[in-house]
Amino acid sequence: MKHRMAFVFLFALMVAGCGQPAGEGSASPASASESRKQQQTVYRWKLITTWPKNLPGLGTAPVRMADRIRTMSNGRLDIKVYGAGELVGAFEVFDAVSQGTAQMGNGASYYWRGKLPIAAIFSTVPFGLTAQEMNGWLHYGGGMALWRELYQPFGVIPMAAGNTGVQMGGWFNKEINSLTDLEGLKMRIPGLGGEVLARVGGVPVSMPGSEVFSSLQTGVIDATEWVGPYNDLAFGLHTIARYYYYPGWHEPGPTIESIVNAEAWASLPADLQAIVETALRMTNDDVLAEFTARNAQALRMLVNDHGVQLRKFPDEVLIRLRTVSREVVAEMAGDDPLNRRILDSYDKFSTLVRSYHEITERAYINARVVRSDGGEANDGA
Ligand code: CA
Repeated sequence: MKHRMAFVFLFALMVAGCGQPAGEGSASPASASESRKQQQTVYRWKLITTWPKNLPGLGTAPVRMADRIRTMSNGRLDIKVYGAGELVGAFEVFDAVSQGTAQMGNGASYYWRGKLPIAAIFSTVPFGLTAQEMNGWLHYGGGMALWRELYQPFGVIPMAAGNTGVQMGGWFNKEINSLTDLEGLKMRIPGLGGEVLARVGGVPVSMPGSEVFSSLQTGVIDATEWVGPYNDLAFGLHTIARYYYYPGWHEPGPTIESIVNAEAWASLPADLQAIVETALRMTNDDVLAEFTARNAQALRMLVNDHGVQLRKFPDEVLIRLRTVSREVVAEMAGDDPLNRRILDSYDKFSTLVRSYHEITERAYINARVVRSDGGEANDGA
């Protein structure tokens, strides 16, 4: 118990010191009797997700988080987690949390493209920020305040709840040797990446994860991306597609979002709000750690045990996709001042962090494999 208290205290300090304002509606000083009542109230929340129930990583993380919140709050905040389709469909999560059908929802902001196209920036941008960089922008570069401003009219407060790291490029049954191989290709690919694919002649399809396997198997789609080796192996995509392409240019570091109904949030006492924020920051970190380890293990299994053929997209294809990605993102501002501010903030941070990461992350990763003859060592040493 002593340990647990120290843990909560430490994390509360970290949250308080992180420079990010607490969610809107932080509790105002309550009277003594009100405060006592709040301490005795058990809050029962529903957390709906866009993922199949218990999907490794994305589906299991919110369950682990709810368990932690229950323990840290001594049972005062009891969150029940629902998989996609149990309470509402995957793509109805945002509206359901906005309307208060559920107090919390986990998903990815690019799923709300139909309602709020600019929201995609807070999940991932093709050829944009990596996981590490997204966390920098959201929590210390102004991104989170803009995300909250964007969702505020819907009565929803967003927070980061994980990141998968760079995803894989997807599963194909024919090789992609040039841009012409993308023409007419029906591919499940969400978010801005789908828009980019459309502009180079492909046919993007948006569908929740639960439909991916059967759609590829029955030929409704020709190709699909999903997440990375860990989740793709769980779906069995290697049993119905021949080639596994990289890199995931379209999702270089997608942030998993957790959204909270603003009224439900305001009804929580300050200590429970701090517990939720702390649990989310911990989950945000934990998911990336889990994906880093499990993806690496699963990739080895896919290649060694299942004979999956890895392919890298040709440079010609990546360069064209990168050019088109920049056009697609630049057009997103339109006439909307908030959209403009979001894109400006993202661009400014991107320029800043990229010049730093050129001489740190990239220089180091290059240094790890460089050989004196100019080639690359790939000896795993
Ligand atoms: Ca994906």
